[in-house]
Amino acid sequence: MTIEYDLHSHSVASDGTLTPAGLVQQAHAAGVQVLALTDHDTTDGISAASVTADELGLQLVPGVEVSVSWQSMTVHILGLNIDPHCAALQTGLQRLQGVRDWRAMEIGRRLDKAGIPGAFDGASALTRGRIVSRTHFARFLVEQGHAQSLREVFKRYLVPGKPGYVSGEWAGLEEGLDWIRQAGGLAVIAHPARYRMTASKLRRLIGEFRELGGAGIEVVSGSHTRDNITSMAALARTGNLLASRGSDYHGPENPWVKLGHMAELPAGCTPVWESEAWPAH
Ligand code: AMP
Ligand code: MN
Ligand code: MN
Ligand code: MN
Repeated sequence: MTIEYDLHSHSVASDGTLTPAGLVQQAHAAGVQVLALTDHDTTDGISAASVTADELGLQLVPGVEVSVSWQSMTVHILGLNIDPHCAALQTGLQRLQGVRDWRAMEIGRRLDKAGIPGAFDGASALTRGRIVSRTHFARFLVEQGHAQSLREVFKRYLVPGKPGYVSGEWAGLEEGLDWIRQAGGLAVIAHPARYRMTASKLRRLIGEFRELGGAGIEVVSGSHTRDNITSMAALARTGNLLASRGSDYHGPENPWVKLGHMAELPAGCTPVWESEAWPAH
Protein backbone atom coordinates (compact mmCIF):
# COMPACT_ATOMS: atom_id res chain seq x y z
CA MET A 1 0.00 0.00 0.00
CA THR A 2 1.46 3.37 -0.93
CA ILE A 3 0.97 6.35 1.31
CA GLU A 4 -0.15 9.62 -0.25
CA TYR A 5 2.33 12.31 0.78
CA ASP A 6 1.88 16.03 0.10
CA LEU A 7 4.72 17.92 1.73
CA HIS A 8 4.04 21.54 0.67
CA SER A 9 0.86 23.55 1.27
CA HIS A 10 -0.42 26.95 2.43
CA SER A 11 -3.24 28.24 4.62
CA VAL A 12 -4.61 31.71 5.44
CA ALA A 13 -1.75 32.04 7.93
CA SER A 14 0.26 33.08 4.84
CA ASP A 15 -1.14 33.40 1.31
CA GLY A 16 -3.47 30.40 1.05
CA THR A 17 -7.25 30.83 0.98
CA LEU A 18 -8.32 27.96 3.28
CA THR A 19 -8.09 28.01 7.05
CA PRO A 20 -5.65 25.47 8.51
CA ALA A 21 -8.62 23.29 9.52
CA GLY A 22 -10.27 23.66 6.11
CA LEU A 23 -7.02 22.78 4.36
CA VAL A 24 -6.60 19.60 6.40
CA GLN A 25 -10.23 18.63 5.69
CA GLN A 26 -9.70 19.11 1.95
CA ALA A 27 -6.46 17.11 2.04
CA HIS A 28 -8.17 14.27 3.90
CA ALA A 29 -11.06 14.28 1.41
CA ALA A 30 -8.52 14.13 -1.44
CA GLY A 31 -6.93 11.00 0.03
CA VAL A 32 -3.79 12.66 1.41
CA GLN A 33 -2.48 10.70 4.42
CA VAL A 34 0.58 12.81 5.28
CA LEU A 35 0.32 16.60 4.78
CA ALA A 36 2.94 19.24 5.52
CA LEU A 37 1.65 22.75 6.26
CA THR A 38 4.43 25.03 5.04
CA ASP A 39 3.24 28.62 5.24
CA HIS A 40 5.61 31.40 4.16
CA ASP A 41 7.70 32.63 7.10
CA THR A 42 5.19 31.66 9.79
CA THR A 43 4.11 28.61 11.78
CA ASP A 44 0.89 30.25 13.06
CA GLY A 45 -1.41 27.74 11.32
CA ILE A 46 0.17 24.59 12.68
CA SER A 47 -1.62 24.18 15.99
CA ALA A 48 -5.10 24.53 14.43
CA ALA A 49 -4.12 22.20 11.57
CA SER A 50 -2.86 19.59 14.05
CA VAL A 51 -6.14 19.55 15.94
CA THR A 52 -8.15 18.80 12.79
CA ALA A 53 -5.53 16.31 11.56
CA ASP A 54 -5.82 14.37 14.84
CA GLU A 55 -9.61 14.29 14.53
CA LEU A 56 -9.42 12.91 10.99
CA GLY A 57 -6.49 10.54 11.46
CA LEU A 58 -4.30 12.42 9.00
CA GLN A 59 -0.62 12.88 9.81
CA LEU A 60 0.25 16.59 9.89
CA VAL A 61 3.90 17.45 9.32
CA PRO A 62 4.73 20.80 10.95
CA GLY A 63 6.57 22.86 8.36
CA VAL A 64 7.50 26.31 7.13
CA GLU A 65 8.65 27.84 3.83
CA VAL A 66 11.50 30.20 4.65
CA SER A 67 12.29 33.11 2.31
CA VAL A 68 16.04 33.21 1.66
CA SER A 69 18.21 35.63 -0.33
CA TRP A 70 21.01 33.92 -2.24
CA GLN A 71 23.19 35.72 -4.79
CA SER A 72 20.60 38.47 -5.30
CA MET A 73 17.82 35.95 -5.86
CA THR A 74 14.98 34.81 -3.64
CA VAL A 75 14.97 31.10 -2.89
CA HIS A 76 12.40 29.22 -0.82
CA ILE A 77 13.60 26.61 1.67
CA LEU A 78 11.09 24.25 3.25
CA GLY A 79 11.66 23.16 6.82
CA LEU A 80 9.85 19.85 7.40
CA ASN A 81 9.15 18.32 10.80
CA ILE A 82 10.20 21.46 12.60
CA ASP A 83 9.39 22.18 16.22
CA PRO A 84 7.32 25.38 15.97
CA HIS A 85 8.23 26.28 19.54
CA CYS A 86 11.95 26.60 18.74
CA ALA A 87 13.02 30.09 19.86
CA ALA A 88 15.77 30.48 17.27
CA LEU A 89 13.33 29.65 14.48
CA GLN A 90 10.67 32.03 15.80
CA THR A 91 13.12 34.90 16.27
CA GLY A 92 14.24 34.41 12.68
CA LEU A 93 10.70 34.23 11.31
CA GLN A 94 9.71 37.38 13.22
CA ARG A 95 12.52 39.22 11.48
CA LEU A 96 11.27 38.04 8.08
CA GLN A 97 7.74 39.12 9.01
CA GLY A 98 9.17 42.58 9.70
CA VAL A 99 10.85 42.60 6.28
CA ARG A 100 7.50 41.65 4.75
CA ASP A 101 5.77 44.57 6.56
CA TRP A 102 8.39 47.01 5.32
CA ARG A 103 8.27 45.60 1.79
CA ALA A 104 4.46 45.82 1.69
CA MET A 105 4.57 49.55 2.52
CA GLU A 106 7.19 50.03 -0.17
CA ILE A 107 5.16 48.08 -2.76
CA GLY A 108 2.15 50.21 -1.86
CA ARG A 109 4.17 53.40 -2.24
CA ARG A 110 5.51 52.39 -5.63
CA LEU A 111 2.15 51.28 -6.96
CA ASP A 112 0.73 54.60 -5.79
CA LYS A 113 3.41 56.40 -7.82
CA ALA A 114 2.49 54.22 -10.78
CA GLY A 115 -1.11 55.46 -10.52
CA ILE A 116 -2.65 52.73 -8.36
CA PRO A 117 -3.64 54.22 -4.99
CA GLY A 118 -4.70 52.28 -1.91
CA ALA A 119 -2.86 49.04 -2.64
CA PHE A 120 -1.19 48.77 0.77
CA ASP A 121 -4.53 49.10 2.60
CA GLY A 122 -6.26 46.91 0.02
CA ALA A 123 -3.71 44.11 0.25
CA SER A 124 -3.56 44.38 4.05
CA ALA A 125 -7.34 44.03 4.23
CA LEU A 126 -7.09 40.72 2.35
CA THR A 127 -4.65 39.17 4.81
CA ARG A 128 -6.09 36.80 7.40
CA GLY A 129 -2.91 36.20 9.37
CA ARG A 130 0.39 37.86 10.22
CA ILE A 131 1.88 37.55 6.72
CA VAL A 132 1.43 40.03 3.89
CA SER A 133 2.63 38.66 0.57
CA ARG A 134 2.70 39.65 -3.07
CA THR A 135 -0.25 37.29 -3.51
CA HIS A 136 -2.40 39.67 -1.41
CA PHE A 137 -1.38 42.57 -3.64
CA ALA A 138 -2.12 40.45 -6.70
CA ARG A 139 -5.61 39.60 -5.44
CA PHE A 140 -6.30 43.28 -4.70
CA LEU A 141 -5.10 44.36 -8.16
CA VAL A 142 -7.31 41.75 -9.85
CA GLU A 143 -10.27 42.87 -7.71
CA GLN A 144 -9.65 46.45 -8.84
CA GLY A 145 -9.63 45.39 -12.48
CA HIS A 146 -5.95 46.04 -13.19
CA ALA A 147 -5.58 42.54 -14.64
CA GLN A 148 -7.69 39.47 -15.37
CA SER A 149 -5.70 36.87 -13.46
CA LEU A 150 -3.06 36.46 -10.79
CA ARG A 151 -0.63 35.24 -13.41
CA GLU A 152 -1.14 38.40 -15.48
CA VAL A 153 -0.92 40.73 -12.51
CA PHE A 154 2.39 39.23 -11.39
CA LYS A 155 3.81 39.57 -14.88
CA ARG A 156 2.72 43.20 -15.26
CA TYR A 157 3.30 44.57 -11.76
CA LEU A 158 4.98 42.31 -9.24
CA VAL A 159 8.10 40.74 -10.74
CA PRO A 160 11.62 42.25 -11.07
CA GLY A 161 11.64 45.24 -13.39
CA LYS A 162 7.93 46.02 -12.86
CA PRO A 163 6.51 48.97 -10.87
CA GLY A 164 5.37 47.01 -7.81
CA TYR A 165 8.46 44.85 -7.34
CA VAL A 166 10.55 45.42 -4.24
CA SER A 167 13.35 43.03 -3.38
CA GLY A 168 13.46 42.03 0.28
CA GLU A 169 16.52 41.22 2.37
CA TRP A 170 15.47 37.75 3.47
CA ALA A 171 17.43 35.24 5.54
CA GLY A 172 20.88 34.20 4.40
CA LEU A 173 21.05 30.60 3.17
CA GLU A 174 23.26 29.53 6.06
CA GLU A 175 21.06 31.36 8.53
CA GLY A 176 17.81 29.87 7.23
CA LEU A 177 19.27 26.37 7.33
CA ASP A 178 20.49 27.00 10.85
CA TRP A 179 16.98 27.96 12.07
CA ILE A 180 15.56 24.79 10.51
CA ARG A 181 18.33 22.64 12.00
CA GLN A 182 17.86 24.17 15.45
CA ALA A 183 14.14 23.43 15.18
CA GLY A 184 14.99 19.78 14.46
CA GLY A 185 13.71 19.91 10.87
CA LEU A 186 14.89 18.72 7.48
CA ALA A 187 15.62 21.41 4.90
CA VAL A 188 14.36 21.01 1.33
CA ILE A 189 14.77 23.44 -1.59
CA ALA A 190 11.23 24.27 -2.76
CA HIS A 191 10.32 24.15 -6.49
CA PRO A 192 13.94 24.27 -7.69
CA ALA A 193 12.96 24.48 -11.36
CA ARG A 194 11.08 27.76 -10.80
CA TYR A 195 14.02 30.07 -10.11
CA ARG A 196 15.02 31.03 -13.67
CA MET A 197 18.58 30.04 -12.80
CA THR A 198 21.03 28.63 -15.29
CA ALA A 199 21.73 24.93 -14.76
CA SER A 200 25.20 25.72 -13.42
CA LYS A 201 23.89 28.28 -10.96
CA LEU A 202 21.27 25.82 -9.73
CA ARG A 203 23.97 23.18 -9.27
CA ARG A 204 25.99 25.72 -7.28
CA LEU A 205 23.00 26.48 -5.05
CA ILE A 206 22.41 22.77 -4.49
CA GLY A 207 26.10 22.19 -3.71
CA GLU A 208 26.23 25.03 -1.20
CA PHE A 209 22.91 23.96 0.32
CA ARG A 210 24.20 20.43 0.84
CA GLU A 211 27.49 21.66 2.34
CA LEU A 212 25.46 23.69 4.84
CA GLY A 213 23.43 20.66 5.91
CA GLY A 214 20.47 20.79 3.52
CA ALA A 215 18.73 17.44 3.11
CA GLY A 216 16.75 17.42 -0.11
CA ILE A 217 15.10 19.10 -3.06
CA GLU A 218 11.49 19.13 -4.16
CA VAL A 219 11.48 16.93 -7.25
CA VAL A 220 7.72 16.75 -7.72
CA SER A 221 6.00 20.12 -7.27
CA GLY A 222 2.63 21.48 -8.38
CA SER A 223 4.58 23.97 -10.47
CA HIS A 224 6.95 21.46 -12.15
CA THR A 225 6.41 20.07 -15.63
CA ARG A 226 7.21 16.44 -16.48
CA ASP A 227 10.54 17.57 -17.90
CA ASN A 228 11.26 19.54 -14.71
CA ILE A 229 10.57 16.41 -12.65
CA THR A 230 12.99 14.36 -14.73
CA SER A 231 15.77 16.94 -14.54
CA MET A 232 15.25 17.67 -10.83
CA ALA A 233 15.34 13.92 -10.10
CA ALA A 234 18.69 13.74 -11.90
CA LEU A 235 19.97 16.72 -9.89
CA ALA A 236 18.89 15.09 -6.63
CA ARG A 237 20.70 11.88 -7.54
CA THR A 238 23.94 13.51 -8.69
CA GLY A 239 23.85 16.00 -5.80
CA ASN A 240 23.30 13.16 -3.34
CA LEU A 241 20.14 14.71 -1.94
CA LEU A 242 16.80 13.29 -0.88
CA ALA A 243 13.72 13.92 -3.01
CA SER A 244 10.50 15.54 -1.83
CA ARG A 245 7.00 15.78 -3.28
CA GLY A 246 4.50 18.56 -2.61
CA SER A 247 1.68 20.36 -4.38
CA ASP A 248 2.33 23.95 -3.17
CA TYR A 249 -1.45 24.16 -2.85
CA HIS A 250 -2.81 27.66 -2.07
CA GLY A 251 -6.56 26.93 -2.32
CA PRO A 252 -9.29 25.76 -4.70
CA GLU A 253 -9.19 29.00 -6.76
CA ASN A 254 -6.27 27.61 -8.74
CA PRO A 255 -7.69 24.57 -10.56
CA TRP A 256 -4.26 23.52 -11.88
CA VAL A 257 -2.90 22.49 -8.51
CA LYS A 258 -4.61 19.82 -6.41
CA LEU A 259 -3.79 18.44 -2.98
CA GLY A 260 -2.10 15.05 -3.44
CA HIS A 261 -2.60 13.36 -6.83
CA MET A 262 0.79 14.40 -8.17
CA ALA A 263 3.21 12.36 -10.22
CA GLU A 264 5.17 9.76 -8.27
CA LEU A 265 8.84 10.39 -7.54
CA PRO A 266 10.88 8.93 -10.41
CA ALA A 267 12.73 5.65 -9.81
CA GLY A 268 16.18 6.13 -8.33
CA CYS A 269 15.15 8.99 -6.02
CA THR A 270 15.32 8.50 -2.27
CA PRO A 271 12.14 10.00 -0.76
CA VAL A 272 12.73 12.40 2.10
CA TRP A 273 10.28 10.37 4.23
CA GLU A 274 12.58 7.34 3.98
CA SER A 275 15.43 9.29 5.53
CA GLU A 276 16.80 8.27 8.93
CA ALA A 277 15.97 11.77 10.16
CA TRP A 278 12.25 11.42 9.33
CA PRO A 279 10.31 10.98 12.61
CA ALA A 280 8.62 7.71 11.64
CA HIS A 281 12.03 5.95 11.77
P1 AMP B 1 6.14 36.70 -1.69
O1 AMP B 1 6.72 35.56 -0.90
O2 AMP B 1 5.33 37.63 -0.86
O3 AMP B 1 7.16 37.42 -2.53
O4 AMP B 1 5.08 36.07 -2.69
C1 AMP B 1 5.42 34.93 -3.44
C2 AMP B 1 4.15 34.15 -3.71
O5 AMP B 1 3.47 34.71 -4.81
C3 AMP B 1 4.42 32.72 -4.11
O6 AMP B 1 4.52 31.90 -2.99
C4 AMP B 1 3.20 32.38 -4.92
O7 AMP B 1 2.17 31.97 -4.06
C5 AMP B 1 2.81 33.69 -5.54
N1 AMP B 1 3.25 33.82 -6.94
C6 AMP B 1 4.48 34.07 -7.41
N2 AMP B 1 4.48 34.17 -8.75
C7 AMP B 1 3.21 33.96 -9.14
C8 AMP B 1 2.53 33.93 -10.41
N3 AMP B 1 3.20 34.15 -11.56
N4 AMP B 1 1.20 33.69 -10.43
C9 AMP B 1 0.52 33.50 -9.28
N5 AMP B 1 1.10 33.50 -8.06
C10 AMP B 1 2.42 33.74 -7.99
MN1 MN C 1 2.67 31.51 -1.89
MN1 MN D 1 7.58 29.05 -2.85
MN1 MN E 1 4.86 27.44 -1.28
